[in-house]
Amino acid sequence: MTWLGVVADDVTGATDIAGTLVARGLRVVQTFGLPEGEISECDCVVVALKIRTVPAAEAVASALAAARRLRELGAEQIFFKYCSTFDSTDSGNIGPVADALQTDLGARISLVCPATPTIGRTVYFGHLFVNGRLLSESSLRNHPLTPMTDPDLVRVLGRQTTSDVALIDYSVVERGADSVRSELERLAGQGVRYAVADALRESHLAVLGEAVRDHRLVTGASGLAWGLASARFASRARVVAAPVDEAILRAPAAVVSGSCSEATREQVALFAARHPAFAVDPIALAEGQDVVGAALEFVAAHLDGPVLIHSAADVRRAQSVLGTLRAAELVESALAGIATGLVELGVRRMIVAGGETSGAVVRALGITGVRVGAEVDPGVPWTFSLDGRLALLLKSGNLGRPSLFGDAWDALT
Ligand code: ADP
Repeated sequence: MTWLGVVADDVTGATDIAGTLVARGLRVVQTFGLPEGEISECDCVVVALKIRTVPAAEAVASALAAARRLRELGAEQIFFKYCSTFDSTDSGNIGPVADALQTDLGARISLVCPATPTIGRTVYFGHLFVNGRLLSESSLRNHPLTPMTDPDLVRVLGRQTTSDVALIDYSVVERGADSVRSELERLAGQGVRYAVADALRESHLAVLGEAVRDHRLVTGASGLAWGLASARFASRARVVAAPVDEAILRAPAAVVSGSCSEATREQVALFAARHPAFAVDPIALAEGQDVVGAALEFVAAHLDGPVLIHSAADVRRAQSVLGTLRAAELVESALAGIATGLVELGVRRMIVAGGETSGAVVRALGITGVRVGAEVDPGVPWTFSLDGRLALLLKSGNLGRPSLFGDAWDALT
């Protein structure tokens, strides 16, 4: 029996919200794709989809299937989780997915709030800020797949849906949950179906969470999930998942990184300065060299401490020679192959950096779900595969402290 079902639009976004809910005291299981069978001893199931950049119709079908399955499992409320930087394009997929979920769940109006102040994402008069800079002036404006060039979320969402979108500004939020609730009622009465809400700090998110605690559908990022959990589980004792097999704690450890994001580059550089590291070269892969074999040979010789396999070098060169998509595919499939080989070599503790990369790795390893443990950093929890084989830390490219690859292991013991 679960109370909250989360439909997340990508793998590490799912891990991020799962970690946040665990930190708030909930027992959380995250599945990759639709949950199979019954899931016991949990308050929330997070379904990790990969629908951020697929065609809208495909995203809608996957999200609807996930929400329906979650309702079958007992979810009373569905949370549609997107990125705290609202990653999307004019053709979707936040608007089309939210429209479909609203209709399916019979929801009249939904809150829209990606604010997550713990990682510097705030919303003021409907404008999204990233570490104090407008979204459109942050590095997200250059994102290869979902460039964010408009910071006004009422406008951004307005282009993705035919429904009316309105703003609930911070002055309403500051007056408290009753004030937000009446504003939502008033707007719903006018036929508005989405209310973008301001939130500058956690107290605003707690107010918003209280205001929508009975909504069938809530949409947002980890910040609003925190607010919702705070409203519904104010005095809950904390239960954190741990590995079912203690041998995992002594097993060989490895980091597989396919992310080229700023935070990950720093993590790779810091780790590689002190530990064994192997760089995967996409051009060598394209030439048909046995890079996977060479990486595994390297790992086998260094299994006494954590070892890193990464692909961060020469991204521009690889992309200009091979094209962005081909380079990405080659790297993803090589890293997935390496991850499989690592497990065959006895690795049972693994950090995977990068959203797409994590998706490719869990698929290759045949992991269907994980129980979510304590966060090492905001949005970065350890997780334990439901089959008991592995401890996995799947992290979004831009999250985590610089020393994460070297010291996240300590949080496992
Ligand atoms: P993030 O979470 O940082 O966005 P992802 O794993 O989602 O990380 O995306 C990174 C993408 O870049 C993946 O598709 C990966 O295969 C690709 N990639 C990684 N290294 C290289 C490289 N050296 N050259 C070209 N593409 C790369």
